[in-house]
Amino acid sequence: MAEKATPIELEVAVVNGVELNGHWNRIFEPRVISEYDLSVLEEVTAIPGAESLAYCYQCGKCTSVCPVDVVGDYSPRKVFRRTQLGISLFESEDLWLCTTCSDCLRVCPKEVNMIDIMPAVREKAVMDGHAPQELLSAFENTARYGNPLGEPARKRAEWSKGAGVAVPIMKDHKAPVDVLWFVECYPAYHPRGQDASVALARILHSLGVDFGILGNEEKCSGDSQRMAGEAGLFEMLAEDNIKVLSKYEFNTLMVTDPHAFNAFRHEYPKFGGEWPTYHYTQLLAGRIGEMDFKTPIERRVTFHDPCYLGRHNGEYEAPRALLGAIPGLELVEMGRCRENAYCCGGGGGGMWMDSFTSERLTMRLSERRVREAVEYGAEILAVTCPYEVSRFEDAVKSTGNAGKLKVLDIAELLAHSMGLVEANV
Ligand code: SF4
Ligand code: SF4
Repeated sequence: MAEKATPIELEVAVVNGVELNGHWNRIFEPRVISEYDLSVLEEVTAIPGAESLAYCYQCGKCTSVCPVDVVGDYSPRKVFRRTQLGISLFESEDLWLCTTCSDCLRVCPKEVNMIDIMPAVREKAVMDGHAPQELLSAFENTARYGNPLGEPARKRAEWSKGAGVAVPIMKDHKAPVDVLWFVECYPAYHPRGQDASVALARILHSLGVDFGILGNEEKCSGDSQRMAGEAGLFEMLAEDNIKVLSKYEFNTLMVTDPHAFNAFRHEYPKFGGEWPTYHYTQLLAGRIGEMDFKTPIERRVTFHDPCYLGRHNGEYEAPRALLGAIPGLELVEMGRCRENAYCCGGGGGGMWMDSFTSERLTMRLSERRVREAVEYGAEILAVTCPYEVSRFEDAVKSTGNAGKLKVLDIAELLAHSMGLVEANV
């Protein structure tokens, strides 16, 4: 039998003038009291926005939900501890691993807010020249061309020429519209994003929606650049977009991208740009009764909740209502869904740091998510954030699941079932 530790007990101890008898001053071994040099932590918490890192009391709840810790060694608890031990967060690679998915904030009892901490600390690191080069290139492209892909602004509406339906561009249309569609960069330029844009344009047309786009007057909403530490660039983009939008008359702003949705709902109003804003799934969910579905999609489909539509903005139902309306489609939920959904790794600038992060993780977050979809027997992974189609399609290939799992935007699935496009279902 293990020997019981002998308690160390003083008959009477006086602590701060209070007399404690033996029962209350009992300890089982002399404690090693370490005094931390808090100057490194205080350097972080002195930054406006980053104060809450100091609130961490190491409970570890965040570690169990952080999607990065699933494939690496990173969570807010670890960030706090390493900083407490004197490792500078400004120079640490930890600073670039957070995708600002917001799952930790959901469970943290002390409200340690990485959504405020990360952009604030990153901003200083960017100014001091400590950011990964690939992220700086995305910033530079955005500043120069108005999009992180480095595509010319004049080509922003080129996708619409292949839409097969009229996609009015506001500056030529010269009339008010009911819905102004803020397309965003990946749906405008990335080939797979363009597929979803064509599908969405055809759906809007078939529903008789009176809509228009900004064409080459539109610039990136800038929300991910803001989260990655480029607040100045974000402000510039917000001011430009607000100026352009203010020229036109419309009732509703519709966005394809949950990151733009976040910017228009929470950030642009701070700069004087406030419009009733909806994600496209929200607008379409209200029109399900008018959709003429012709072709059933007899597939097992799972849905990946985008962090910036779900956790950041509370929309979980609209995408599911649309998928549920498609005849033949069987919707199966992954374990990590809705509030606890896993992250694709693209948020908070992760979209532009794939090489940096993949060298530091056992696998990409997108690869982990694709494996989860396959584990649930899904044949199609349905998405509704423009970052995700390309990320997950790459991950399908790199995890050896080509031929097993397809990745399609909800707009593509709807348009296919309505007989408006031939999607690869
Ligand atoms: S959940 Fe909050 S308090 Fe607990 S370890 Fe994580 S950051 Fe610290
Ligand atoms: S926001 Fe997401 S990725 Fe960042 S620390 Fe929290 S749980 Fe991890």
